[in-house]
Amino acid sequence: MPDQGAVTAHALTKASFVRFEGVSVTYNAGTAQATAALSPTDLGFAQGDFVCIVGPSGCGKTTLMQTLAGFLKPTAGTVSVGGVAVTGPGPDRGVVFQQAALFPWKTVAANAGFGPTMRGLPRAERQARVEYWLRSVGLWDFRDRYPYQLSGGMQQRLAIARALANEPELLLMDEPFGALDALTREKMQEELHTVWKRRGMTVLFITHSVDEAVFLGTEVVVMSQRPGRVLARIPSPFARLAGERDIRRIKAGADFVALREQVLSLIWGEG
Ligand code: ADP
Ligand code: MG
Repeated sequence: MPDQGAVTAHALTKASFVRFEGVSVTYNAGTAQATAALSPTDLGFAQGDFVCIVGPSGCGKTTLMQTLAGFLKPTAGTVSVGGVAVTGPGPDRGVVFQQAALFPWKTVAANAGFGPTMRGLPRAERQARVEYWLRSVGLWDFRDRYPYQLSGGMQQRLAIARALANEPELLLMDEPFGALDALTREKMQEELHTVWKRRGMTVLFITHSVDEAVFLGTEVVVMSQRPGRVLARIPSPFARLAGERDIRRIKAGADFVALREQVLSLIWGEG
């Protein structure tokens, strides 16, 4: 079991690649409908980290991510990436939502190639990336179809391919695999992990599956009930295991089970 004391090593430092400083969010502030979604939060992590956020439904996970994506201005506090304050969305941050948000008027291939096109990458490079990612998510044969011709799971895989084809420095994923069947989900977990390692990407990943968080993350951030705050930051060793990752074997191991139970008991308030 990793040492809980190691948590302090991840504390907010000047060097943090991603920094949330005193970030809080109240929706409809100053009105009768005011909802405090996020308590003042300080959170920082390094380039190359794979941070998984878990917590009860409605605790402010999506809210926190939206401030980093640049879609939501915090009520107080600042968010920065690489020392630059976030003021809006940008191509350095790829986002995959809970529900696939595709361009319905574009083909599968054009959806996947959107980021590289916006970046003005040469045609050959764009095509190579689109082909690679559509093949990775099993949609290459559907490249000339339109989103409405795909099932929900396929649309979600396309949204993931579109984000990864852009090879963002920072990838933000909000329960991206929730709509996928178990087999596809494990395959996508492995794909994501491979690209994360190869590209040295930084990933912020929200999931309601503690199993998924402990397996994928270099760290699991556990949030409290709304208005959410960070309850615990638990380093997880499994993401950086060298060599072949045998999912079944890792998840059945005593150290994996113990860490999963630790996170679960924190969520259930027993920790
Ligand atoms: P989570 O992703 O952890 O399930 P959210 O960040 O989506 O939680 O929401 C946190 C709280 O803020 C919830 O109580 C939710 O109802 C509320 N909320 C989320 N978005 C809005 C909004 N646009 N307007 C008002 N309240 C919102
Ligand atoms: Mg959410």
